[in-house]
Amino acid sequence: MTPQHTTDVLIIGAGPAGTCAALRLLSLGHKVALTESEPFPRPQIGESLSPGIRNIFDYLEASHLLNQRNYLHQLNAQVIWDTTAVQTFSAAQRGPGIMVDRGLLDKDLLSLAVERGLQLYQPARFESCRQTDTGWQSQLRQETQLLTINSRFILDARGRRGNSMQDRVLTAPPTVAIWGHLPAHLMPGDTLIEATKKGWIWGSPTPDRQFRTITFIDPKELKGNTVSLTFSNVLSESRLFQVVRNNGIQDLQTCTVFTYAHTSPWQDNYLRLGEAAFSLDPLSSTGVEKAMRFSLQAVIAINTILKTGQTNLAQAFYEDNMITSVSSHTHWTSNYYAQAWPGQEHAFWRERSVPFIGQPDTATAFYNRLKDKFAAPKEKGPDRQINVQQELQRLWHEQVRLSPALIFRETPCVVDDILQLRTAIQHPNLEREIAYLETVEISPLLSMAHNITTFGDIVQEWSRLLPFEQAVRIAFFLWDKDILCETAS
Ligand SMILES: Cc1cc2nc3c(=O)[nH]c(=O)nc-3n(C[C@H](O)[C@H](O)[C@H](O)COP(=O)(O)OP(=O)(O)OC[C@H]3O[C@@H](n4cnc5c(N)ncnc54)[C@H](O)[C@@H]3O)c2cc1C
Repeated sequence: MTPQHTTDVLIIGAGPAGTCAALRLLSLGHKVALTESEPFPRPQIGESLSPGIRNIFDYLEASHLLNQRNYLHQLNAQVIWDTTAVQTFSAAQRGPGIMVDRGLLDKDLLSLAVERGLQLYQPARFESCRQTDTGWQSQLRQETQLLTINSRFILDARGRRGNSMQDRVLTAPPTVAIWGHLPAHLMPGDTLIEATKKGWIWGSPTPDRQFRTITFIDPKELKGNTVSLTFSNVLSESRLFQVVRNNGIQDLQTCTVFTYAHTSPWQDNYLRLGEAAFSLDPLSSTGVEKAMRFSLQAVIAINTILKTGQTNLAQAFYEDNMITSVSSHTHWTSNYYAQAWPGQEHAFWRERSVPFIGQPDTATAFYNRLKDKFAAPKEKGPDRQINVQQELQRLWHEQVRLSPALIFRETPCVVDDILQLRTAIQHPNLEREIAYLETVEISPLLSMAHNITTFGDIVQEWSRLLPFEQAVRIAFFLWDKDILCETAS
């Protein structure tokens, strides 16, 4: 007879996605178990953390973990991207990103979750699961022993290895990463990023006094070449990485980087998180941040089911968030590739400068929604910089109306850690539907605007409920998006 344990949620994998979900679920009072196949610390690529990571660690009450080791803060950057000139960005311009040791950070996060009540099985490998009347029954292998865990939910955070190609759709052409290290004293103390004709190169000092260099190229470049010759060929075209080339790096590592989305990420309370759900092009260096953010949203969905039983609402929220993340990131990345100096005449850059979505083996309902989002018209460019006083005077007597393209729709919103339905607005100039602006529910304001005819009257009416400046800001936002627009003469 195998030992049996029961929990609300079983999480598979202790990368940032799995541990972030564990910490948040524990803080909401749920019983959580986690299985991790590797002993920690284990080596893990992905150490350059984007500035947004700090908010997430603050939220998890884990920010001390970013300060307690010799991680590198405040790195300047030298960049060759939109022209062949070197641009220098100070740490203040780049925002407070951090170079960490992922092996240690993942270990520290996991220890914190254990301190806060996580039931941990490590090293223990998740082997299989089957559905039961109340949820899922999973089999874990811990050395020679088999364990059975009964749980209401499974959160699969096994990373890239956690799903097969047939369950994924590619959202960018594959890229090959080749990386290695030099002693840090040979290189500048800055992060280096360079676009070359064959691909792009990223390098940075790491906390263990090494300098890591990674080249990202098309898999075709490796055909008929050794890894070290290919690496050296790419570096030979660069300006910032000549020292790396001249020193020759031993022990190069390589992997194919697939950028993808799972085509059925939520099935019967089995949810995928982090890179088991979707991966991002490494160009953004936001993989860890996005994985953790998505885990926080998934936890809200689970908390809603556990506290209110509203599964459909929760699943819609989780799926909408994943679709928005994948689509907006893909559009952002392709724009960034399009700006690189080598330009469209080079295949690497041409193929990556337009948003891409592949054709999966099975076109699931989720895939169809994702594909529609890729095809949807994109949000208008960045908000215009305006002189508020002048514009307010100019628009005050302007006859305005609500855009005929505006749609009101019931949508799940997070209220006190659970989802509740609120009326949101959809419009072609909005990247996603919104229910709140600056924490103000927007649909009651727009209902008031239905019968009012001038911009000034709208601002005055709203300022009965809100501070005047906030009413003006919201009115300008809606004007900028053409949601509030001129009455046709
Ligand atoms: C070349 C490259 C460079 C990158 N650079 C960056 C970067 O600079 N910055 C950044 O933010 N992101 C970067 N990323 C992405 C980043 O590494 C990932 O976003 C992040 O690791 C995803 O976290 P995760 O928790 O989903 O998965 P992982 O961190 O992969 O964790 C998954 C865990 O699941 C465990 N596991 C797997 N199978 C089982 C099983 N059967 N049973 C139990 N446990 C299991 C694994 O041992 C592992 O610990 C990079 C990715 C690549 C490929």
